[in-house]
Amino acid sequence: MDFDGKVALVTGGSRGIGAATAVRLAELGADVAITYRTSPGDVVDRVKGLGRRVVAVRADSGDAEAVAAAVEETVAVLGRLDVLVNNAGEFIVGPVEELGVAEFDRTFDVNVRAAFVAVKAALPHLGDGGRVIGIGSNVAGRAVFPGFSLYAASKAALVGMTKALARELGPRGITVNLVHPGATDTDANPADGAGADVVRGFTAVGRYAEPSEIAAAVAFLASDEARYVTGAQLHVDGGFTA
Ligand code: NDP
Repeated sequence: MDFDGKVALVTGGSRGIGAATAVRLAELGADVAITYRTSPGDVVDRVKGLGRRVVAVRADSGDAEAVAAAVEETVAVLGRLDVLVNNAGEFIVGPVEELGVAEFDRTFDVNVRAAFVAVKAALPHLGDGGRVIGIGSNVAGRAVFPGFSLYAASKAALVGMTKALARELGPRGITVNLVHPGATDTDANPADGAGADVVRGFTAVGRYAEPSEIAAAVAFLASDEARYVTGAQLHVDGGFTA
């Protein structure tokens, strides 16, 4: 896989799966932009250390204008855009009685609307070979735990958007795919957190994923080798949904 001369934008790229993805794409030769909400973390230094160009943009994915502006800043600074990874996600869970319209709106603004807005902003810049990759969740297809009504619904919404956009953008040579991570050891879901053993028990392999294992799947879908893969859902969940 060779991303030399290509530019990737990863939303929510300062920590966790997004950071691993940004660094992996840079290792493979891409220049990368990330967005973040509070802190850019150490990704800028790590990407620079790989000899690639990098830009970090503060842009809360709940703010549609900020998301669109981040796409424009990526192109302004790095000159082009080839790969969009919609990774930033809001994880609001709890009993349905305790979830309200505010939680619904926040979840869908960050997890669904931002992806839509980013694609719209990216499209004028994505040429033949362009790539759009969403980060869904294993719970989009199998919601085994109580409290996931909003989160699972938002991730399931990405399935429909991915398929429809794949149909629409296929004739332009742009692929659109969705990676469904399973439990992945990040700040949002630490492998030593409460309930982690229960989660592990639902997997076939008996462990959490490392962020790099999700990043590897994203990199494949972003690559030229994956040019005939579109509208697909790739579960990287250790067999959680098997
Ligand atoms: P982390 O909490 O480890 O990292 C989240 C990253 O996204 C950080 O860079 C954070 O920036 C950024 N971010 C969070 N909210 C926003 C926002 N509103 N706008 C912009 N950036 C934001 O999360 P994960 O890596 O675990 O999750 C990444 C994606 O993977 C999410 O979509 C999540 O739903 C999905 N996922 C994760 C799983 C897991 O087990 N970890 C399982 C299935 C799916 P900052 O550092 O500034 O806060």
